[in-house]
Parts: sequence; structure tokens; C-alpha cells
Amino acid sequence: MKLANRMSRLGTETAFTVLARAKALEAEGRDIIHLEIGEPDFDTPANIIDAGVRALQSGYTHYTPAPGIPELRQTIASHISETRGLDFKAENVVVVPGAKPIIFFPILALIEAGDEVILPNPSFPIYESMVNFMDAKPVFVRLSEEEGFGFDLDMFADSLSDRTRLVILNSPSNPTGGVLSKDQLATIADMLRDRPDVMILSDEIYSRVLYDREHVSIASEPDMKDRTIILDGYSKTYAMTGWRLGYGVMNKALAEAVTQLQINSTSCVNASAQMAGIEALAGPQDAVDAMVAEFQARRDLIVEGLNSLPGVTCQLPEGAFYVFPNVTQLGIDQDELADRLLNEAGVATLPGTAFGEYGKGYLRLSYANSQDNIRRALDRIGELVTAAASV
Ligand code: PLP
Repeated sequence: MKLANRMSRLGTETAFTVLARAKALEAEGRDIIHLEIGEPDFDTPANIIDAGVRALQSGYTHYTPAPGIPELRQTIASHISETRGLDFKAENVVVVPGAKPIIFFPILALIEAGDEVILPNPSFPIYESMVNFMDAKPVFVRLSEEEGFGFDLDMFADSLSDRTRLVILNSPSNPTGGVLSKDQLATIADMLRDRPDVMILSDEIYSRVLYDREHVSIASEPDMKDRTIILDGYSKTYAMTGWRLGYGVMNKALAEAVTQLQINSTSCVNASAQMAGIEALAGPQDAVDAMVAEFQARRDLIVEGLNSLPGVTCQLPEGAFYVFPNVTQLGIDQDELADRLLNEAGVATLPGTAFGEYGKGYLRLSYANSQDNIRRALDRIGELVTAAASV
């Protein structure tokens, strides 16, 4: 069998590869602490589960309209309008299975071979994978540690060209936890204002996982609303990774194109998950507040613990549930370090290079795990790096 050439350009998400290796070690009886996968360890709040079960029992077992159940689209439009200070309608919303298709579908709908797409590096690997799949050119803007992992704005200005068609932003960021400030977003918007041919994919999946600050979206900058695709969803905020429920908010014409891609691929999201999604946004939010408070306590714990280790320095992230410690002083390459942490210490992490070349010298750890497990992981990492540092 010969696969189509385009398959050789498709990348992957290393987190799933490492998760499979960690599970294989567990099957052999090893005790592994999971700091690799970006998935809340909490259960979905009970009111949301109840809404999903009620929906199944009351007949939500059929196809729904392809872009989503109208009431859910309206609920999402109201939520995004309120939280981003804009006026969106149900027609701007497409509900998809997990937020990932809002990377896949708009890139399929907008990008031609040879186009340029500007994206952060390090960043969520699916962006680069999809750009390559389209035979387009990824143009990387470094997220530098010295600037709190914000966008290097000079590099961004230099990256813009006549061929630029899309800019991808992700704040709060996976893998760094860095957040783009309102000033930075305003500067990016200024640079794009006279380039109406350039769209923006703003991945805001971690918009609710922010510590002591408010979320800002580039869509709220003057003239940017119709040019921005807001990606958001339920996986991270409501601990709903397995439900596969996400959405994009975008101009009406693009929403129609994305809907057509949905009709050609998944048809629609399962009906009961969509009904649960209405409850998630419209119901009480205290479970979300409690999860974010717990993430913040874990962040403080893991950052302090990592900074106390020889050869490791770690910034305090302002959002998401990842830390991106600098391990260059250890003198062990990040890929080897991640391998040794898994195989020798039983701690699953990802090398920074899983997120691009500027991730060299870093590890990514997800702290979506209990404080007890984080303490145990820190002890194990400490033993390994102390032994490495003394060699
Ligand atoms: N965008 C970013 C930055 C992510 O980290 C993830 C998941 O890890 C997604 C999108 C996809 O989310 P979902 O699981 O809802 O498809």
C-alpha cells in the first residue's frame, strides 16, 4: 500500500506517544507519575454529567444540526461576547468534537500550498503539523524565556511577508504557561491592521486557567473581530477531555466553510455532550473556580520545587497548567533527560523539543496531577538530577 504523499508531512503530538510508553511501563508493574499529558485529573462537575445523562434519557440520541444545537450555539455566542466584550451571534459559532478541529478545519479552509503561517515556537505541535500538511510554510516566532515566554515582537514584525495568510496565537500558552499582555496584543493588531488578507487563529483554550489576571483576546482589538477565529472549548476548563466538545467563533462566511468541512467529516458532535455543554456554560461556575485555585497551589509547589534543584531554573507561569523548566545547566540533552526520567525515575515528562526547536534545553511538565504526586515526582526528579549534576 502506498500512502498519499501528504501523510509524510503530518506530524503528531508527542504527549500521546509518551503516554503510551508510560502505560506500557505501568503494565509491566512500574509505578509511573504522569506529568506528560495536558489533561485535568479532576472529574467533570456533577451538574454537567447530570445534564448529559438527562439528555440521553430524553432522546438526544440523534444527529444534530452540523454546526451545533441552536441553543448551545447561542449560549456560546453569549459567553464569548460577554467574556471578550464583543457582539457575536449563534451564526458565528461552530461546535466541534474537541477544540482540535478548530485548528484543522480553518487551516484547511484558508491555507493554500506555499502560503506562510506565522506561529509561536515552542507551541502546540498540531499547528505546525497542519501547516506542513497543507504544504504551506510555517514561520516561527520565538517565545523567549527572558521575556516571560511572550511573543518576540521584533521577530514577528520581520516574519510578516506578502505570503503571510494566517497568524496563530496561543495565550495562555501550551507549553510555557506564558500569557500575552494587552499591550503585546495591541502591538500585534497594529502590525496586522493594514493587512486584511491575514487572518488570526487565537487559541484561547486555557482562557479560564489564569492566575490573578483577566483574559484578553486579540479579537477585542479594533478591526480584529472579523479576522480572528477564537478557539475555545470544554476539555480544560470543565475537565471534559473525553467528551470531545469544543468550538470556534469566527466570521459568518468562515463559519459556513468550517461547517461544510464538519458535514464532510464528523457530521456533528454527539447530541448529549452538546446538551451538557449548555449546562457547563450556563450553570454554576464554582467547580471551575475551585479547579483553578487548586492548579495555582500546584503551580506554586512545582515551581518552588524545581527551582530548588541543582541545574534547573523555572519561571512562574501565569496561566494554563504547564511549567517549562530550563535544564540546560544539567548538561544532559532534554530528550535524553525526559527518557531517563521516565525509564529510571518513573516520571513521565516531555522534552521541550516536542513543541519545536526553541524548546531545546527545556522540559514540559503538566501539573494537572495531585499535590502528593507532584511532591513524589519532585523527589524522584531531584534524585536523578542531583546524581547527574555530581558526575
Ligand atoms: N490547543 C491547545 C493549545 C491545547 O493544549 C489543546 C489540548 O491539549 C488543544 C488545543 C485541543 O484541545 P481538545 O482536547 O479540546 O481538542
